[in-house]
Amino acid sequence: MTPVRPASAHPDAASYWMDTAIPAQAAPALTESRSTDVLIVGAGFTGLSTALHLAPSGASTMVIDAHQPGWGASGRNGGQVNPTLKYDPDELIAMFGDRAGRLIHTIATSADQVFDLINHHRIDCNPVRSGWLQVSYKKSGIPALHRRARQWQDRGYFADSLDSMATQRLTGTRAFHGGWIDRRAGSLHPLSYVRGLHQAALAAGAQVFGDSPVTRLSRQGDKWLARLANGARITADQVVLATNGYSDALLPGLSQTILSANSFIIATSALGDKTRHILPSGETLSTAERLLIYLRKEADGRLLLGGRGLFDDPAGAGDFAHIERSMTRIYPDLAPFHYEYRWAGRIAITRDFLPHVHRPAPGMLVALGYNGRGVAAATVMGIHLARLLVNGDETEFPFPITPLRKIPLHGALQHFYISAGVAWYGLLDRLAR
Ligand SMILES: Cc1cc2nc3c(=O)[nH]c(=O)nc-3n(C[C@H](O)[C@H](O)[C@H](O)COP(=O)(O)OP(=O)(O)OC[C@H]3O[C@@H](n4cnc5c(N)ncnc54)[C@H](O)[C@@H]3O)c2cc1C
Repeated sequence: MTPVRPASAHPDAASYWMDTAIPAQAAPALTESRSTDVLIVGAGFTGLSTALHLAPSGASTMVIDAHQPGWGASGRNGGQVNPTLKYDPDELIAMFGDRAGRLIHTIATSADQVFDLINHHRIDCNPVRSGWLQVSYKKSGIPALHRRARQWQDRGYFADSLDSMATQRLTGTRAFHGGWIDRRAGSLHPLSYVRGLHQAALAAGAQVFGDSPVTRLSRQGDKWLARLANGARITADQVVLATNGYSDALLPGLSQTILSANSFIIATSALGDKTRHILPSGETLSTAERLLIYLRKEADGRLLLGGRGLFDDPAGAGDFAHIERSMTRIYPDLAPFHYEYRWAGRIAITRDFLPHVHRPAPGMLVALGYNGRGVAAATVMGIHLARLLVNGDETEFPFPITPLRKIPLHGALQHFYISAGVAWYGLLDRLAR
C-alpha cells in the first residue's frame, strides 16, 4: 500500500510533482562575487523564460534563486495551461482601448507559445492539449460563461459553450450546470516543465544559481549591486525581479502591492478505471466562482484538486479539509477518497487581477501578479521581458507598465481575504449538505 504522506507545515512538503518529475539539474550556490549584464531574481517560469529568451541575444544573463529552480509556485501548481486572464477581451478593450489588442493577442496565443517551447526544447513534461472546462455550480453563472466562449469564437479562437448535458458528460458529475471549453488550453507537469526551462536556459548560455537568497539590492553608480546572504555580491547593469507570491522586502513596498495567498492541492491515490468517465480526453477543469477550485486527472486515474487555502502555510492535513470536502461534493459516488499528497504554494493576487509590470528605478524591471494563472502568462511574460531588455521599446510590450501601488490597508485586507475564503467554503459545504 502506498504510504499516506502527512501534510507538513514546511513549504518543502513532498508533492505529487516532486515524486514524478524529470530529474533536476542542480543549480549550484553562488559563493563568489560576479558581474553580469542582467541579473534575474527568481527561478520560476518568469525568471527562467526571461533568461531563456534573453541569453541568445549575447547579453550575459544570470538567474538566482533563494532555493532550487522551480521551488516556488512554478513547481507546485496545477499545471493548467490556460490562455486567459480574469477579464474577457471586450472588458480589456474597455479598460485599455487601442493597447488592448496586443495584450489580448499575447494572452490568446500564450498556450501556443508554451506548447511550441516544449516541442522546440523537447521538454519531457507530459504536455496534453485537450482543453480547459470552466464550469459553474450556479445556473445564474452560465450566461456569462457562454458570452465568454462567444467572445473568443468571434475572434477566431477555438472555444465552445457547454450546456448542462455536455458538462455532465465531460466532468462525470451533476455538480455543475454548464460552462465553456477553451480548446486552446491544455496541461503539463509543472515541475518537469520548469526543470526543462532551466535546462534550456543553461543551453542558451544563461547561468543559474540556487540556494542563494538575495538580501539587498542597491544602486552603485549606473549599476545594481545585489548582496547575497552568504556575503557574495553581484554587479549588474539591469535587474529583473521575478519573485511573484514569494516577494519579500528586497524591493521595499513590492510585497504590499499583492496579496500573497496560498493555493492548496490534494492528490488521491491512483483510481484507475473508476475515473474513466471524468475528463475523458484529459481536459482540465476549474470553477468560475471567485474562490475557484481546479481539477485534473492523471494517466493512472488519480484526481488532483486544488483551491484557495489559508493565508498561512498548512500546518497539517486538517487544513486541507475544505478541498477534500469539495472533492466529495463533486464526486460523491467515489468517496471516501484516499489522499496520497497534500501540498501548497503561493500565488500573487493584484488589486486589478491583472499581471503587473513595474520599472521602479532605472535598470530595474519587476513582473508579478498572475492571479493563479501563470503557467502560460509567466512564460510569455518572460519572452516579452527579454525583448524589452534587448530593444528597450515599450511600445511593443503587451503588458501595461505601471507604477508600484501598495494595496491600501494591506495587512487588514490579507485577513479579509482569508475570512472571505473561509466564508465561501463554509457556504459550499452548507450547499453540499
Ligand atoms: C498551488 C498552485 C496552483 C496553481 N495552479 C495553476 C494552474 O493550474 N495554472 C496556472 O496557469 N497557474 C497556476 N498557478 C500559478 C502559477 O504557478 C504562478 O503564477 C507561476 O508559477 C508564477 O511563476 P513565477 O516564476 O513568477 O514565480 P514563482 O514560481 O513563485 O518563483 C518565484 C521565485 O522567487 C524566489 N525568490 C523570492 N525572493 C527571493 C530572493 N530574495 N532571492 C532569491 N530568490 C527569491 C523564490 O524562491 C521562488 O522560487 C498555481 C499556483 C499555485 C501555488
